[in-house]
This record gives sequence, C-alpha cells and structure tokens, in this order.
Amino acid sequence: MKKPFVTLPQLEAIAQQYPTPFHLYHEAGIRENARRLKAAFAWNPGFREYFAVKATPTPGILKILLDEGCGLDCSSLTELMLAQRCGVSGGNIMFSANNVPAEEFQLAHRLGAVINLDDFTDIDFLQETIGTIPETISCRYNPGGTFTLGASNEGFQVMDNPGQAKYGMTRPQLTEAFRRLKAMGAKRFGIHAFLASNTLSNDYYPTLAHILFQTAAELKAETGCHIAFINLSGGVGIPYKPDQAANDIAAIGEGVRRAYEEVLVPAGMGDVAIYTELGRYMLAPYGCLVTRATHFKHTYKEYVGVDACAANLMRPAMYGAYHHITVMGKEDAPCDHMYDVVGGLCENNDKFAIDRMLPRIDLGDLLVIHDAGAHGFSMGYQYNGRLRSAELLLREDGSVKAIRRAETPEDYFATILWD
Ligand SMILES: *Cc1c(COP(=O)(O)O)cnc(C)c1O
Repeated sequence: MKKPFVTLPQLEAIAQQYPTPFHLYHEAGIRENARRLKAAFAWNPGFREYFAVKATPTPGILKILLDEGCGLDCSSLTELMLAQRCGVSGGNIMFSANNVPAEEFQLAHRLGAVINLDDFTDIDFLQETIGTIPETISCRYNPGGTFTLGASNEGFQVMDNPGQAKYGMTRPQLTEAFRRLKAMGAKRFGIHAFLASNTLSNDYYPTLAHILFQTAAELKAETGCHIAFINLSGGVGIPYKPDQAANDIAAIGEGVRRAYEEVLVPAGMGDVAIYTELGRYMLAPYGCLVTRATHFKHTYKEYVGVDACAANLMRPAMYGAYHHITVMGKEDAPCDHMYDVVGGLCENNDKFAIDRMLPRIDLGDLLVIHDAGAHGFSMGYQYNGRLRSAELLLREDGSVKAIRRAETPEDYFATILWD
C-alpha cells in the first residue's frame, strides 16, 4: 500500500490557499532519505552525492539537499546558472553533458565545476574553449552491448542497452583520453558511467561498481593516471507500483563496499572517492501531484477528468509509466470502480491511469498522484496553452511554503514577439 505523506484535512487546507493542481514535496522525507544514502556510503570518506538537477530544478528543494551535504550535477547552461544562483560553485558542481556548446564549458570552468567529458573530441574542444585542461577531469565510459542483471526464467531483473545509448566513450577511447588529458596537464581523474535507468535491484550499483573499479585499475596500470573518484551516476530506481519492493540503500552501499575491497584496495587504490548522481532516488517518492476530479464521462469507458494534465506530469503519456493514485479520504474504501483518469490536453495519451481500479470517485475529490517528486514538474511543458503549476513544500514543522508560483498567461505570452 502506498500512503500519501499528507492527510485529507491537511490537503484541503492547502488547496484553500493554493488552487489545484500543484506539486507538493515532503521535506522530512527528503532529509531522512538523504541521510540514509549518506550512512550507506559512510565507509568511503570521500563519498558525495551530486543531485541530478534536471530531475527537480527547484531551488527550494535543491537547498534542502545542499543542506544535507549533497553537491549538484548540472547538464546545461541554465542548470549551471541555477547552481550559481543557489550559491554553489567549485567541486560542489559536477558538469555532465553531451553536445556541449562552448559557453557551457566556459561557465562550468569559471564556476570551477568538475567537468565530465562525454566524448573523445571534447578534449581538444575543451582545451580550445577554455585555453587549458583542468587538473581535475572526468570521462564518461560506455562499455557498449547490453547490460543485464539477475537473469532468471522470468527474465532479467535489470536490462538496458548501453550499446544503443548516445553517451560516453568506448573502452579504447577511454585509455586514449586519459593519456592525452595527462599529457595536457590533468592530474586527478574520474570515471563515470550510467548503464541502466530506474533499476529496482540492490545489485545494480555493486555490479556497475565492479565494472568501473576494474576499468579504473586497468587505466591506472595502462596510463599511470591518478584516479581520484568513480562516479556511479544515477539509475537507482524507486517502486512506482505498490507491489514492488523498494531498494535497500544500506545493502547497495555494502555491495559497493565489497566490490571496493575486492578490486580497488588490492590495486593500491583504497583512496578513491565514490560519487553518485542520483535524481529519482533522492526525490521521486517525496513529491506528489495533487489534482481534483472535475468531470465524469461515460462513453465506451468510464472517465474521470482531473484539473492536472500531462503538461504537469509527462511520464504516463511519454513512457506509459505507472503512477499510483490515492483518492484522498477513501484510502480504506474498496477499489471496485475501473476508471481512466485523464487530463484535458487535446492528445489522447493525456491519461494518468488507464483501466485503474479505484474507489468510487465523486466530483471535487482530491487525488494524489504519487512519486512525482523527480522527473515530474521538471518535464512539464506548455502544450495547448496549459501552464506549469505551483510547487509547494510541506516543511518539517507542518507548515507549507510556496517554492514556485504557478505560471500565468503572462508567462506564456512573455516570449512572443508581437508585431
Ligand atoms: C538523468 C541523469 C542522472 C539522474 O538519473 P536518475 O534516473 O534520476 O537517477 C544522473 N546523471 C546523469 C548524467 C543524468 O543524465
């Protein structure tokens, strides 16, 4: 059973002040989770989580993560500027992008961010762009092929296709890159890889770590480079469906520690820092989209129309992703009605749920769409002139703070060049 982090009376009070739809985040949940992650990797003195800004680029949330000791992982000029405006600089920023324009390398360098190179050709481009190669530099690795975990008769626990992914360098390119970067003055090296997304397995990070640790030991032997950190990037998932089991972050940290002891320590590399760049895992369960049932329609199916739409949460429309829905105040009622829960976009994929068994919904009921705290608001758009909603923070003391106002039509018109 998925339980919302707010009660119906709390939500009704919030909705009096802030009209639905809105995104609501849970400060206590965010902090507890960040502390669990930190504890799971406490065995590694250099450990650092660089939160993937793209998942939730909202300063009111970033500040909580920064306060818990996280850095920020940025992938664009605007995300770098956002980090700068949050007062973050230097080694507290990781810059990981592809197809990077000159101005992004320039700002990343000016801020002192650690730059993670996606491609071999980025080396010369970086040197030309900023006139130097930073002493600390990282390269993104793509081993190609398919990445699988836990093969059984029922299939794979985790399967993804690095060989089809646009990111990262091949193994021979990685060696060449390290040699070249060293010759150009780099002194501290990092390795980064992102091989599978939204994994529900305590083995993903340990397996990835094993691959990267072995690669690091080889690279050190081949090139003599000092490898200072290994970045396991994102990809640790969350259970969107109520019958899925959550990852155990303590077990994940322990699995990475075992790989570290097995591979890095014997290679004389017991000083390597472990970095992560989690997005979803840090926030998805601690944010929800709150919307109200506004319409009912009975044709070939039973539809519930709500005041949110795919412009507020795109994952169901884009990936067919499951997001659990709680009808507030009816948590214990039997799920004996089958509905399609739909938004108002003129796009037939604008459906938060299809053939979902839910309690009987009445006009005006508040619906909580779970696990929208990451890749939720941030993927929003303005199609059909639907505007992005407000973002609210439920603080530890129970009060509510608006951390982003809802867009108004004036925001929508702001970029138009009228004749
Ligand atoms: C998106 C992204 C992440 C975060 O991914 P999650 O699935 O949210 O954990 C981390 N690193 C990079 C480079 C990314 O592009």
